[in-house]
Amino acid sequence: MYLLYLDESGNPDDASDQNFVLAGAAIFDRVTHFVSGALDDVQTKHFPGHAPIDFHATQMRSGQGFWRNVEKDKRTEILQDISSAIAGAQHRGVVLFASVVRKSSAVYGEDAVKRATEDITKRFDSYLKRRYREDNDPQRGLLIFAEGRFHERARLWVKDFRALGTQWGTISNLSDIPYFASAKETRLLQVADFVAHAVFLLYERNDPHLIKPILGRFDRQGGEIRGLTHLFAPVPCGCPACLDKQLRSKHPQNPANPWI
Ligand SMILES: [Zn+2]
Repeated sequence: MYLLYLDESGNPDDASDQNFVLAGAAIFDRVTHFVSGALDDVQTKHFPGHAPIDFHATQMRSGQGFWRNVEKDKRTEILQDISSAIAGAQHRGVVLFASVVRKSSAVYGEDAVKRATEDITKRFDSYLKRRYREDNDPQRGLLIFAEGRFHERARLWVKDFRALGTQWGTISNLSDIPYFASAKETRLLQVADFVAHAVFLLYERNDPHLIKPILGRFDRQGGEIRGLTHLFAPVPCGCPACLDKQLRSKHPQNPANPWI
């Protein structure tokens, strides 16, 4: 089974953010232990013997909470180490997904959250279908969301999730309703938080430094990026996902996407 750990970045209701991001990592059940251990190792390297520290990327970057007394260079190094841990995780055991919604007067708030959830759910389901079709490897999936700003309203969808899944098309490989957990309690939701933050920095701040090392870990089919989508993107858009589509339409054999 693959567990898709998801977190958000950007406030869907705040007009000062242009983008809302839902992102995370699909982790094969037998690999979860190793991914969690890789993040524990990052903590042990920098804070040996310390009680578990929540790796929350926004707080780490801006030096809030626990991170207020940690020097910027050290915080930067820890973020890079987390990025390396994700980039180096067992290849088929960890696959990244992100849906970026470019907000507008027509799409914002709960609608933006729902659009991103629909997109990422479908893409995860397609990934599982492909594993079966291409590798004869039947795997089921489960969604695990970080408790956050939208989780209360998302809880309401959970009751209707199967009906929503049907409206969204044929979501056939998910085992159960989505679950919610605190990112403080599991390193794997901290991975999702890191991925969401890295994607948000690229799209909102034009800052690719956190996403670049992990860009190759987003789901791809025959080289084509499937795990990263930019919904309602401006035209033209030079982001990794939009550029991939443009280059493939012109040069299907050799798209030479400079991002990957
Ligand atoms: Zn784009």
